[in-house]
Amino acid sequence: ARADVDTDLFDYRSLLDDDERELLARLRDWLEKNLEPVVNDHWARAEFPHELIPLLAELDLMGLSIDMTDRPARRRLLSGFVSLELSRIDSSFASFHGVHSGLAMGSIAACGSPEQQERWLPPMRRLEKIGAFGLTEPHGGSDVAGGLETTARREGDEWVIDGAKRWIGNGTFADLIVVWAKDVADEQVKGFVVEKDMPGFAAAKMENKLALRITQNADLTFSGVRVPEANRLQEANSFADTNKVLRNTRGSVAWSAVGVMTGVYEVSAQYARDRVQFGRPIGGFQLIQDLLARQLGNLTASLGMAARGAQLQDDGIFRDEQGALAKSFCTTRLRENVGWARELMGGNGIILDYGVARPFMDAEALYSYEGTREINTLIVGRSITGESAFT
Ligand code: FAD
Repeated sequence: ARADVDTDLFDYRSLLDDDERELLARLRDWLEKNLEPVVNDHWARAEFPHELIPLLAELDLMGLSIDMTDRPARRRLLSGFVSLELSRIDSSFASFHGVHSGLAMGSIAACGSPEQQERWLPPMRRLEKIGAFGLTEPHGGSDVAGGLETTARREGDEWVIDGAKRWIGNGTFADLIVVWAKDVADEQVKGFVVEKDMPGFAAAKMENKLALRITQNADLTFSGVRVPEANRLQEANSFADTNKVLRNTRGSVAWSAVGVMTGVYEVSAQYARDRVQFGRPIGGFQLIQDLLARQLGNLTASLGMAARGAQLQDDGIFRDEQGALAKSFCTTRLRENVGWARELMGGNGIILDYGVARPFMDAEALYSYEGTREINTLIVGRSITGESAFT
């Protein structure tokens, strides 16, 4: 159960207009009706609720911040609150959205030619084609800029891709995988849209994952996969172009962290009302109030950073260090908050049914993906000192 507590103490939602608030209210209803009742069961079985995809498509939320022919781009502030709402119920499901809508559609929008955008974005918006984003490799995710081992070799009108990717969200069922590979000719990182039925491509689900269990992460292999030149993202010419995508999606992970914080705050606040010890609700004890007040402080500060970041993205002036700081700061606060919410609930904090154990585990994934805290810290550190600590 969730307490009806104020999760937006400084009223950031007042920055939204009525239309945006109405869309978010519809999404919240949808999630509470369709996702929340089945989420623990799917998490326990590590299965994705595929049956929800056609229903989700009806909400028309994919690629919201991308300009489409019949739907102008909406504000990043709105897509941020969409990530918050999804993550408030389940951060695996939010990751499905983040990978498909932010990373895959975002790559095609940022690095695809107008023809490529017209070819792939409309079916992805309707969720008829599901996207994935393949950057990380088995040898590691932090050193992807310099250390990419997947190669692309041009042969006439085709490219031949060889290599492997690891951790790829939606990888087991995606139709279109944006794959980042090094061109053997000029050593630059380029982006390719690999289609799942291309010969030489294979995906295997990663098993025994104890966070974001609903997210289907996969090991991908590419053995001489032939990709037409028409599937090479025409505006992706170096890792700097990959970074354009990541800068924005790091802002979205900050929103996800705020969403998970919102969910566990509501659940633990209700628990503090219901649970009686020493003859009174535990919410009357000062130490329990401290656990709630500290959660609200982190939640409020993170929401402020995420919201301002979204405005800067809308203004086209969002910088790498801002995305990196928002991602690492908000997910660090998240890690504290899920710990405090779990602590507040005693033993029940580690039982799936009570609503905090799942986000407690999921927070670990948010903390490490899209650049670990260390890597994002080094991006911030480089901007502070002018010195790169990466090499
Ligand atoms: P490593 O790079 O091996 O790092 C290990 C440790 O060393 C970390 O603590 C790291 O911070 C630290 N470290 C590394 N270099 C330095 C340094 N210079 N200074 C200080 N510390 C350092 N990737 C995709 O491409 N697509 C996806 O869809 C995707 N989804 C994911 C979903 C989940 C649930 C997870 C967990 C990961 C996902 N990833 C995805 C991969 C993710 O981006 C990587 O896990 C992340 O970049 C870290 O890489 P790594 O796990 O290989 O750790």
